[in-house]
Amino acid sequence: METIRTVEWMKQVSRQARAEGRLVGFVPTMGALHAGHASLVHAAQRECSPVVVSIFVNPAQFGPGEDFAKYPRAREADSVLLESLGVEFLFAPEAGEIYPPGFSSYVEVAGLASRLEGRARPGHFRGVATVVLKLLEIVQPWRAYFGRKDAQQARIVQQLARDFDLDAQIEVCPIVREPDGLALSSRNAYLSREDRRAATVLWRALAAAREAVGRGERNARPLIARMRQVLAQEPRATPDYVEVVSADTFEAAAELRGTCYALLAVSFGATRLLDNMLIEEQGREFRCTL
Ligand code: AMP
Repeated sequence: METIRTVEWMKQVSRQARAEGRLVGFVPTMGALHAGHASLVHAAQRECSPVVVSIFVNPAQFGPGEDFAKYPRAREADSVLLESLGVEFLFAPEAGEIYPPGFSSYVEVAGLASRLEGRARPGHFRGVATVVLKLLEIVQPWRAYFGRKDAQQARIVQQLARDFDLDAQIEVCPIVREPDGLALSSRNAYLSREDRRAATVLWRALAAAREAVGRGERNARPLIARMRQVLAQEPRATPDYVEVVSADTFEAAAELRGTCYALLAVSFGATRLLDNMLIEEQGREFRCTL
């Protein structure tokens, strides 16, 4: 695996691969890699060669009081993992390479980015959209792979790609979970042992909603109430939002129709976790995917 630190060299490597007729796959990450990231790499490897993984803890997407400084960083272990997966290129620039002195352009995805995570973390999606646009411009992949774990982010990136006529196809991959249902996340490392145990309540809340949908519930309000009821059984959990939204607009849905998400943001002490369930209309049924 070749580790690339500069924008110019990354562009050159990618340009060369495209000139050879190769299909560049791209997996952007913030490092502290886990099996969720590895699943994106595997998805990319099934369809593309070479695969480029980026590791960049993007300062622009962290708010002033957030965990930028203490976000887990694991350079060595990440390189070993990517090497073992057979990744050809790791793009790991310093912050000054992506945001050199004088940097002054930012991307706002109106509407979509103002809701839910956008409301809870002002400026977060502006930072995400800006860095993703830059990374997609630098790498110019054929396909770029994102996790449904961050469903709103993935939807915003799709919108960005559409609005700016980017060539990259945006692929959204399933959520990888621990055996007890907790979605893998670099931030799980912050959880105390008690909070780690308690955090399975996200999965239980979504599973309860799935059960209700299975019994024929089609209205959002009782689904939300059911999820809140499950969350309330765990005293260590402080729910932020519990919503059922349209997968297209991320606006609250009154009832299930087309494709929706049940979305959760729940804090355990200072650690805020996200999870979601995809709900897809199929004929007269709704299929729930955790
Ligand atoms: P991050 O390093 O947390 O910024 O995540 C990089 C990419 O990995 C994003 O597209 C995430 O949605 C995705 N990702 C994170 N956790 C998971 C997971 N448990 N399953 C699948 N994808 C994930």
